[in-house]
Amino acid sequence: MSLSEYRKKRNFAKTPEPAGRLRALHRGRTFVVQKHSASHLHYDFRLEVGGVLASWAIPKGPSMNPRQKRLALRTENHPLEYATFEGVIPEGEYGAGVVMVWDKGDYRPQHDESIEVQLANGKIEFVLDGVKLRGGFALIQIAARSGRRDQGDAWLLIKQKDEFAATSWNIEQAPLDRSVMTGRTLEEIAEGRSRRQRGL
Ligand code: MN
Repeated sequence: MSLSEYRKKRNFAKTPEPAGRLRALHRGRTFVVQKHSASHLHYDFRLEVGGVLASWAIPKGPSMNPRQKRLALRTENHPLEYATFEGVIPEGEYGAGVVMVWDKGDYRPQHDESIEVQLANGKIEFVLDGVKLRGGFALIQIAARSGRRDQGDAWLLIKQKDEFAATSWNIEQAPLDRSVMTGRTLEEIAEGRSRRQRGL
C-alpha cells in the first residue's frame, strides 16, 4: 500500500489536506465517509488497510437499503490522517471543494482472511460501527481498469440484510446531512463557521 499517487496529485503548500505518512505497522480498523462537493458531489468511502485508507468514490453515497447497490470507484489511497480532515480544498487544487466527515467509526472484517488479501481478491466483507452506517456490508469489484491496478476500477457497495438494514434510507434527509465530527453542514464548513455546540 502506497501514498505516492495521493502525494503526486496534491500541492501541500496550497491545500489544507494532510501530507500524512505511511504507517505500515498500524493495525487500526478505522473507516470514514467524507461528503465531498467537488465538481461532482460524491461520498468518499475509506477503510484502513495496511497503514493507509483504501478509498472509493461513491457518486450516490452509501445506502442502508440492501436493494440499493452503490457504484464505488476505487481512488488513490489516502493517509490515515485524512480520516479527520474536514474543510475547504481551494479552487485550482485537486478535488477543489468542501469536505465533510459524514460518518466515522471502526469496522471489523467478517472473515479471518486478511483485509489486504480480500482487497486484492476484489471482495471485502465487513461490519461497520459508525454513527450513520451500521452492520454488515460488502464491497465487490465488478470491473478493473486494464493496466492501472490501483486506480479507476469499479466496485459495488452493498448493505447486507441484518437488523440495521433500512429500506426507508434516504441520504438527503436533513438529520443525515451533518458532520459527525463537528455537527456542521457543507455550507457551514464552506463559510468556515466553527464547530456547533451540540453535535447531531
Ligand atoms: Mn472525493
